[in-house]
Amino acid sequence: MTNKLKYFIGNWKMFGDFTSFKIISRISMFSRSYARLGRKKIVLCVPNTLIYFFKKKLKSKHIFLGAQNCHHEDGFGPYTGSISPMMLKKIGSEYIIIGHSENRKEGETDKMIKRKIAFSLKNKINIIFCIGETSSEKRKKQTFSVLRKQLKNSLEKKFDFNKILIAYEPVWSIGSNKIPKINELKKIIIFIKKECGKNFNVKKLRVLYGGSVNPQNIRLFSLISNIDGFLIGGASQSAKKFIDIIKNYYK
Ligand code: PEP
Repeated sequence: MTNKLKYFIGNWKMFGDFTSFKIISRISMFSRSYARLGRKKIVLCVPNTLIYFFKKKLKSKHIFLGAQNCHHEDGFGPYTGSISPMMLKKIGSEYIIIGHSENRKEGETDKMIKRKIAFSLKNKINIIFCIGETSSEKRKKQTFSVLRKQLKNSLEKKFDFNKILIAYEPVWSIGSNKIPKINELKKIIIFIKKECGKNFNVKKLRVLYGGSVNPQNIRLFSLISNIDGFLIGGASQSAKKFIDIIKNYYK
């Protein structure tokens, strides 16, 4: 069993209401009673409507709460329906997912992503920055060039990389039950770490994998030692599946 810190981050997407606290509560109990099961950090990125409520109810130091997106301006402003990094920080967000492909599809650009990262860092929120190629880009063998561009266009040397996690999430793998070949994934993780080392002088970058992770396939991922954790979508909406992913990872 590895002793390196591993992240298990849930992305609830558009899911959950006040009653969903029972999911967090089960995960929190598990985390406390299995504290010796590897060095791990559990983060749940829930809808903004739930962050403050969960934060107040959750007494555990074992679980962190995060948001899933923010506006590319900070503070308050004339942006109907939007929430700024400062507002998220005030309600208890310690992490934030930025650049998720479901938001890029809605028109989020690299430039907006860079501003979101900068303002979230300013508010001392940890970043989960998502990058990944589409199936057509993969077919055209553009994976590495797409990733390089996404990294270069949204990150800067001056960013505090101790507060940034990169989540490699191939778009074709999200919610599809398809996962990358282990050898390919290993190479991609190495590539991301090298690129950031070269361009931003990062000595120790943490890279997660996300896309159709479930309790059955997690054992395969545990064979890749340079993965620093996982971003888990659909399966994180079930306490049992999320807990089984962690248990099976350390089996
Ligand atoms: C995600 O949307 O970040 C994700 C990883 O989804 P899923 O696990 O459902 O593929």
